[in-house]
Amino acid sequence: MDGSHLSVVVDLCPSQWHLSSLHEPYPLDLGSFVSQLLAFLNSHVASRHENSLAVFGAFPGKSVLLYSSANPPSETPSNDANSFPPFKMVDSTIMHNIVQQLNALDQGLDEEGLPSLSCLNYSHILSAPSALVGALTKALCFINRLTLEFNTSTANATEGLEPLTLSDPRILVLSVSPDQTTSYIPVMNSIFSAQKLKVTIDACQIYGPETVFLQQAAHLTGGSYIYLERRDALLQYLTMAFLPPPSIRQTISVPTQDKIDFRAACFCHKNIVDVGFVCSVCLSIFCQPVPVCSTCRTKFPIKTLQRLNAARPSLPLTSASQSRNSSTPPTPQKINGHASVTPSQPLGPGGLPPSGSINNNSTFHINGAKNGLGLSG
Ligand SMILES: [Zn+2]
Ligand SMILES: [Zn+2]
Repeated sequence: MDGSHLSVVVDLCPSQWHLSSLHEPYPLDLGSFVSQLLAFLNSHVASRHENSLAVFGAFPGKSVLLYSSANPPSETPSNDANSFPPFKMVDSTIMHNIVQQLNALDQGLDEEGLPSLSCLNYSHILSAPSALVGALTKALCFINRLTLEFNTSTANATEGLEPLTLSDPRILVLSVSPDQTTSYIPVMNSIFSAQKLKVTIDACQIYGPETVFLQQAAHLTGGSYIYLERRDALLQYLTMAFLPPPSIRQTISVPTQDKIDFRAACFCHKNIVDVGFVCSVCLSIFCQPVPVCSTCRTKFPIKTLQRLNAARPSLPLTSASQSRNSSTPPTPQKINGHASVTPSQPLGPGGLPPSGSINNNSTFHINGAKNGLGLSG
């Protein structure tokens, strides 16, 4: 397969798009976004005949496959002398599916058109965050399926050779929603899957605050993250930064992120933390020292907890030290700052020094940039 595969994950949360359409100085509404997106998708289709494309929409509470060049719609759109049929196929299928999904949201119906929601549920669904991670996961599954099909169609599988990977598969995430801290673990798992499948994740935050998780996804998979400040130049950004496949990007200089926020979300409260504490066995992250790891049930010596609490930076919140011995979750190493490791604790697989080599007074940095806070180990 010579063409490159592009999966696009589009955040279609109506409330965020409404806010974006009102945001000065560069308002961007959903209609104008979709028309620029279609122009970009057509550019990808046009740049090489073998290129493949899939588009996933993230709506409040659910994610939907909007278009796939592997399964084009059976009914071809009516012939129009003024349009190129492959473009028309992409445009009309995506528009039809978006309109259908938004109408279903609007009427409180599910995609089969069945009344599925009471009025109460309906407002609940509309205010739900968009299922961006769900769409990202579907995109990864889709690429995995293409890879499997590609391998069975070649002689490699039967000859027991190393399975081939698609050339340059990539995912572009176009987001308008802020980070949902509850999705930290799913996002991290998606990043690891992407690394294994050799998928590049690009991300463009079109509206709203910078997203920590998408920055990390792009960084850890070798993609670009762009925060769009000039929303009136969306199509130009898409074309310049995200149209070239990764193999070409080394030759032509594409814009990339200049700063990355490596903070993680704690597993106990799902808050994004500046200083966290990592279980030395399973590498779970907590926002405060805990006597027992809630993930792997490892117990930590009370001395360690006392020492870690004493070493914590003086934060305005004082309740944390009081709840130290309560049933809140556990943790022995500090990350992102100076970390102290208990010699009595076994160490996890995150590339940390063996416990015997560290004495009680030693401190070291765990560099989140290098090891993804230990989770990538
Ligand atoms: Zn927490
Ligand atoms: Zn643990």
